[in-house]
Amino acid sequence: MSRLYKTQGVILSHSYVGEADALLSIYTPFLGKLRAVARGVKRSKSRMAGHLEPLTHCSLMLARGRNLDIISGCDTIEAFAPLKASLWLTSCGLYAAELTDRMGVEGTENRRLFQLLLGTLQSLSSGVEPSTVLRYFEFRSMACSGYLPEIWRCVACGHSLEMAAHSFSPTAGGLLCPQCRPANGSARTVSVRAIKVLRFFSRQGLAAVARLRLKPEVLREIEGLMQLYVTYVLDQEVNSARWLRALQAGGEDRTEQHV
Ligand SMILES: [Zn+2]
Repeated sequence: MSRLYKTQGVILSHSYVGEADALLSIYTPFLGKLRAVARGVKRSKSRMAGHLEPLTHCSLMLARGRNLDIISGCDTIEAFAPLKASLWLTSCGLYAAELTDRMGVEGTENRRLFQLLLGTLQSLSSGVEPSTVLRYFEFRSMACSGYLPEIWRCVACGHSLEMAAHSFSPTAGGLLCPQCRPANGSARTVSVRAIKVLRFFSRQGLAAVARLRLKPEVLREIEGLMQLYVTYVLDQEVNSARWLRALQAGGEDRTEQHV
């Protein structure tokens, strides 16, 4: 096996280790999640540093190491500059990156998750309404990691669900019919409009989702629902979700992507 190999990937996170090295988490199309070290990137003359910022899509040359692989070269494919010019959009991107980091498995290919992450960063960078993009990302990242919530039939008894308000149970993994709800204490009511959006998410790609104009209350309802479900699946809240909520509560100016 050759010691050197090439891949492309999206930088999910980086943290400095030692004097000048960085430990990176990268999501790749064929190798799943990859943890690698970049030597000397903290030094001002490092040619790699700019290409290895979080939320950058880049091509990488790596050398196999005993524990972690070492990045020996890199080039930016897409920097997503408009996204990085806004604190709000950067935070949205970092939330998608953290969720990918948590759902992704090292050495296990998940090309759908890679394409979803890339499409999400492209949408955020090109002005698509960020909350809609993130709700879609949450739903689809769960779906392509084996946690697709059941939204067409009752997850307990299997009966087809008519278009009406139903209840969603994160522990059962989907919607419940009125007969099955009483047996499930974790269920919460979901409106018809929110169910319609989730069904749209399950069938459509980002291009169609980008054209949706959802009311803030529907987005908030889906956000609450997906937060419950994601937290249940991961057995822990995503850290950057708290940060996003704090930014929202602080009334952060979210139009600054045009600076
Ligand atoms: Zn049922």
